[in-house]
Amino acid sequence: MDRLKALGLQHVTDYFTNSWDDIKSEWVQGLRNVDLTFQVATNNRLESINSKIKSVCSRYVTMKQFFSELFPVLASLCDECRHPNIMMLVKHPVVQRPEELKAYESMLTAYAFAIVNKQYQLSCRLTPSCVNGDKYTFDTSAGVVNATCTGCNCMQFVTVGLPCKHVLNIRKQRSQSLFDESLVLARWKQSAYWDHCKLRSTYADSYVAVSTAVPERKSSILSQHEKFRVAKKVTDSLASLCSEGGTVRLHGKTAVSEKCTAVVEPR
Ligand SMILES: [Zn+2]
Repeated sequence: MDRLKALGLQHVTDYFTNSWDDIKSEWVQGLRNVDLTFQVATNNRLESINSKIKSVCSRYVTMKQFFSELFPVLASLCDECRHPNIMMLVKHPVVQRPEELKAYESMLTAYAFAIVNKQYQLSCRLTPSCVNGDKYTFDTSAGVVNATCTGCNCMQFVTVGLPCKHVLNIRKQRSQSLFDESLVLARWKQSAYWDHCKLRSTYADSYVAVSTAVPERKSSILSQHEKFRVAKKVTDSLASLCSEGGTVRLHGKTAVSEKCTAVVEPR
């Protein structure tokens, strides 16, 4: 702001001050990360609904005609939303989950549990840089993170409302149960989801739950795209690990990574 004022462009400064400065918490990325945004930074969902409506509803028609086309679209969109929920009710995956996460799995929606499960996997690799009583400090690529067994100031915990890798790591170190309902926002619970979709009364009682196992795909010959996806998982994990810690360690880690690149490079 000081640099803007130093330019001496009064009209621009006034425009910025009147139009943007007061609402900076809505557009500055760093300030948005302290709110419960569920890490959604775009309006893609809204645009998607808009494009579906436009693909069905005719332009330049009467109001009556417009609504006669709009309501089936809305009904169809609702059914689309309900489908994964009904699948969640009637199918129970038999994939082996860590025993410590069973309570989360039975309480959370599949989407929310996948987030917690990922955080759990990441938590196993963490080591706190400092421990002071029940307060733990972690050095991360995004800065210093302070956490306890009931809360954390990292972006994942603050913006999503689910237990993050730091909290899970601390609870494990202190031999506490990983499950704590207070760490979970009500919106992520299956019960809240069913209530929201009005599924419980209409569908839940009439369906019989079945267990399903998704057979693991074994393909001896992978397409180039499949090979890329397999390799990308490894490199993403490598990049994540490299970015943890200080800059000096980063240079050491990247030097080793470059040697790995030289090994796999085609000759
Ligand atoms: Zn955290």
